[in-house]
Amino acid sequence: MTDFTMETGSDGVAVITWDVDGKSMNVLSLEGLETLDRLIDDALADEAVKGIVLTSGKDSFAAGMDLNIIAKMKDMAGDDPARGVFEGVMDMHRVLRKIERAGMDPKTNKGGKPIASALPGTALGIGLELPLATHRIFVADNAKAKIGLPEIMVGIFPGAGGTTRLVRKMGAMAASPFLLEGKTVEPAKAKAAGIVDEVVSDPLAAAKAWVLDAKDADLLKPWDAKGYKMPGGAPYHPAGFMTFVGASAMVNSKTKGVYPAAKALLSAVYEGALVPFDTALKIEARWFTSVLMNPSSGAMIRSLFINKGALEKGAVRPADVPDQQVKKVGVLGAGMMGAGIALVSAQAGIDVVLLDRDQDAADRGKAYSETYAAKGVSRKKITQDKADAMLARIEATTAYEALADCDLIVEAVFEDPAVKAEVTKAVDAVTNNDCIFATNTSTLPISELAKASKNPEQFIGIHFFSPVEKMLLVEIIRGKATGDRAVAKALDFVRQIRKTPIVVNDARFFYANRCIIPYINEGIRMVKEGVAPALIENAAKMVGMPLGPLQLVDETSIDLGAKIARATKAAMGDAYPDEAVDEVIFWMEAQGRLGRKAGKGFYDYDEKGKRQGLSQAVAAQYPQAATQPELLEVQHRLLFVQSLEAVRALEDGVLMDIREGDVGAILGWGFAPWSGGPLSWLDMIGAPYAAERCDALSAAHGARFACPDLLRDMADKNQSFYGRFGETSAAA
Ligand code: NAD
Repeated sequence: MTDFTMETGSDGVAVITWDVDGKSMNVLSLEGLETLDRLIDDALADEAVKGIVLTSGKDSFAAGMDLNIIAKMKDMAGDDPARGVFEGVMDMHRVLRKIERAGMDPKTNKGGKPIASALPGTALGIGLELPLATHRIFVADNAKAKIGLPEIMVGIFPGAGGTTRLVRKMGAMAASPFLLEGKTVEPAKAKAAGIVDEVVSDPLAAAKAWVLDAKDADLLKPWDAKGYKMPGGAPYHPAGFMTFVGASAMVNSKTKGVYPAAKALLSAVYEGALVPFDTALKIEARWFTSVLMNPSSGAMIRSLFINKGALEKGAVRPADVPDQQVKKVGVLGAGMMGAGIALVSAQAGIDVVLLDRDQDAADRGKAYSETYAAKGVSRKKITQDKADAMLARIEATTAYEALADCDLIVEAVFEDPAVKAEVTKAVDAVTNNDCIFATNTSTLPISELAKASKNPEQFIGIHFFSPVEKMLLVEIIRGKATGDRAVAKALDFVRQIRKTPIVVNDARFFYANRCIIPYINEGIRMVKEGVAPALIENAAKMVGMPLGPLQLVDETSIDLGAKIARATKAAMGDAYPDEAVDEVIFWMEAQGRLGRKAGKGFYDYDEKGKRQGLSQAVAAQYPQAATQPELLEVQHRLLFVQSLEAVRALEDGVLMDIREGDVGAILGWGFAPWSGGPLSWLDMIGAPYAAERCDALSAAHGARFACPDLLRDMADKNQSFYGRFGETSAAA
């Protein structure tokens, strides 16, 4: 079956229906585009056709381009990939421009056939770029539908004319949240913003009526008419000048220049605004090609779209275990984490028993959801009815009997093995034999905690990050005895609450904390060495880390760092490598500089907790050295220290799949998303160069930079991670 089919009614309206077989949402493939091209030709040539309506056979219009194909376009283009990509993109422009001109006479702009889009729901990416080329867009009055161009989120930008058309339709300023931030909105807001034309209950009927009634002038796009002026002003207009200068500064401050797509998008908009429409499309295609040719876009698409999606769909789920969706979850401990876990579970429609030591604590945990829901209602994000239904799912209690019919328990009590063992036993006494028990511990070995359970094969780690409702990643930890059903249950639960899972084996700090703690420590170590804190922080941000290491430890708190340091030292004994870091941490702790919550840490804060600048007290205690390192040296220390830990996690068998290593790093702690993750980053710089840098860094700064055997072997063989382990099933 083809993706697009056409049927012409007795009214003379040709309805082209997009309905990709076997997919819940339409995505555009190259074959699909060819079919559409042919159908448009047929309809324009057929005298019986008075007008055309483009619609979808699904309850949404389209989710976008098949990004797998974009990723492969380069490979398909042979010896001159940039030319191949550019020509492919220009071909897309040709089809969309044909729709837009619809057979009009180029001189008189008369004689075309009206083409309208009827969108039953969500229209994203190419799913909106295509309608933008039609003459009028009708969308169903469906508050759940999302309209927008989110390409920037995966490291590209709208390259099928969406950038040029949206800017010409709305003006650069109004278009910027949609293009630069990938903002998506419901139909009513899309209409208010001027992206779509009509929101109606029956878009197909309305579109048909419109095409039958349309006059020549209705078909002509403003930018094809004489005297067109860009809304808000073109670059050399005084108002436009302000917009473009401002946008440029804003993009640079947000991206620090590491995201090629944001810069290329701005260039396409600016340069495109200076020339006629068809030239602007060509400029857009050139910049789009440059982004597709940049290794960053390929790595971002691979990690943030293809592999993130694969993990969410259960790529690593044990295949032969039947559906383990959770009906009722028991959350033990209604503190910071337990309250968040209860909230996201109830939001997903799961019944929750939230248990704490006393009723007040349990109620406080539920109050977290109440406050969250009230905010949602006041901001019109959810209705009062939905908020009430969500809250009614949470039962706050102290009674273990209430857990009797839970099929999953998530334990989030104090980080103390004795307390955890006590609650594990208490739960085992009331739950049935099928119940899976998960602990949210951040530091305690799962295999040890499982010893308190009567069913260690039903015991697992489900490690959330804080704040639970915001953080996208959940780390699932397999203990030595954990069975497949527990893994499947954890994965099915994570899918229900719409987060992205990675499954790792049990080892100190699992995966995310194993990599992020050395990042923080490297920053602190540099303070001790006399490296300027401003250099450390800016180097981190300029390489795409969301927070510098010193800001990060201020957020997570110095006392937590000190606690982890003491426990790690006790466990490692003489092998403990971080004495230099501890000196700084313990000094900070003794000074009461515990981070943002204390109003002082590596930064100072005002009474509202707003950062005021780097601390003078820290500067006095750890004076800056007369000679400062090069920016790249600082950046390499910060990136290698995390990436090498990811490689070691792979060598040790903690990570079982390189895709999880990369996706987990970006979603878990914000590892430079432009790079596609730590393993993608090493692939980008190449194993031979990475090994060489390891040798230099370890000679200068210590054994933590020693080249792992795996990386050395890859350097000798000139291999990449994705080459060695495979793009799709990347089992290490
Ligand atoms: P918290 O101190 O905010 O909450 C713990 C809650 O457990 C408290 O409400 C306490 O009253 C309750 N509790 C203690 N003993 C209990 C018992 N015997 N029975 C019932 N309830 C009991 O702690 P938190 O930050 O929510 O951390 C909870 C767990 O999550 C810890 O294991 C921690 O390591 C882990 N974790 C924390 C974070 C984080 O960022 N805070 C992140 C990931 C995992």
